[in-house]
Amino acid sequence: MLLHHIHFFSISMVFIMSIFFPNSIILKDKAGSPYVTCRAQRRLLWILCSHSGGRQRKLNPSRLAGCQHVWRLRGHRSLVSVSCSGAAHTGNRQQLFPKTTPRMDDCAQQRPLFTFGVIADIQYADIDDGLNYTRTRRRYYRSSLQLLRNAQESWSESAVKPEFILQLGDIIDGFNKGHDASDRALDTVLRQLGSSPVEVHHVWGNHEFYNFSRSSLLSSKLNSSLLGDRSRARAGSDIYAYHFSPFPGFTFVVLDAYDVSLLGREESSEEYRSALSLIKQHNNNQDLNCPPVLEGLQQRFTMFNGGFSKDQLDWLDSVLSSADEKQQRVTIVSHLPVHPCSTTPICLAWNYDELLAVISSHSSVVCVMAGHDHDGGYYRDKDTGVHHLTLEGVIETPPDDNAFGTVSVYEDRMVLKGSGRIPNREFLFSRCHSDTDDRAG
Ligand SMILES: [Zn+2]
Repeated sequence: MLLHHIHFFSISMVFIMSIFFPNSIILKDKAGSPYVTCRAQRRLLWILCSHSGGRQRKLNPSRLAGCQHVWRLRGHRSLVSVSCSGAAHTGNRQQLFPKTTPRMDDCAQQRPLFTFGVIADIQYADIDDGLNYTRTRRRYYRSSLQLLRNAQESWSESAVKPEFILQLGDIIDGFNKGHDASDRALDTVLRQLGSSPVEVHHVWGNHEFYNFSRSSLLSSKLNSSLLGDRSRARAGSDIYAYHFSPFPGFTFVVLDAYDVSLLGREESSEEYRSALSLIKQHNNNQDLNCPPVLEGLQQRFTMFNGGFSKDQLDWLDSVLSSADEKQQRVTIVSHLPVHPCSTTPICLAWNYDELLAVISSHSSVVCVMAGHDHDGGYYRDKDTGVHHLTLEGVIETPPDDNAFGTVSVYEDRMVLKGSGRIPNREFLFSRCHSDTDDRAG
């Protein structure tokens, strides 16, 4: 009887918390208990948890390490994460404290149609740690290989083996070029990736072009358009874009975000000249790696970004028309993010708006996955229902953490199970936005 009263009191407290703190989140473990409700206040996160025994404790995150229950809290700048019985929730306030509880467990009992692994910005180099361009983030060049190894171990041990891995670009760092170590570094990473039999689809990022010319990339192992007979490359040009279907009804399109770029193009080529003319319309700096402005979308016109040619957009349009007719689900993969709300503007593709226009004219696209912005991001387009995911980069992930994900695909959704600093997310396939869809992400 006493336990019953205590349990009722616990539930009441949670209810009261949710009224007074609308940003609170309430999680429940598989057995239905304990409950937890949290509230972010600047960088401080207070947690009120009631365990099955009915005891309630108000804890400062710094003291939470002593809590020997299923909860784990980690603060990182404005990001916080909560994990409950293996389901981690990480994000900013808006992501972490949705109006309703995420339904990650709904799919736990259901077997997926297929799964795949995702990983971004490994940027391996056999050099000591350093800092990023703006000297605000640490980069762990050498240990990124160990983090890749962690990802592969996890994928190979998973109950449903991934059908393929998406490597979202920047597989080795540009520093390798200066050390004359490009081939050696690429061999090291590809040997690691090749240690498991699963096929890997490679996306090309700016660091690929810092190390290799476009023509050498096309004849290298990073050209995965040649994989099997389920891949269809865009024929007749050096644009690295193709699509493949790992399962009936599902198509993945790999895009070339540096098709229009100063990177990877011969200075004497027409492509280089037109890319230079385009960037100079927006950026007057001597160093074109410096953004033209300090704020806003114009920041994207830097040399480390690029865009999609009309040829490639027309090809994508035709691939999506075919997918529409067959009522397929399409996931587009690009090194550069293409939605301004899914990334910092400095990482956006130059003509992201033209790509979004193509996407919005087709019903088949459900998701766009990108890398490049090492902090990651997520946004669901309210008009199209398309999920735009930017995956957190391995290179800026400390050696004792992780940054990879496993995506389980179902008839009506994809579920991303993130590891380390990558949050769990759910991508419903419905095109129209509704209140229910707020759960996504
Ligand atoms: Zn990049």
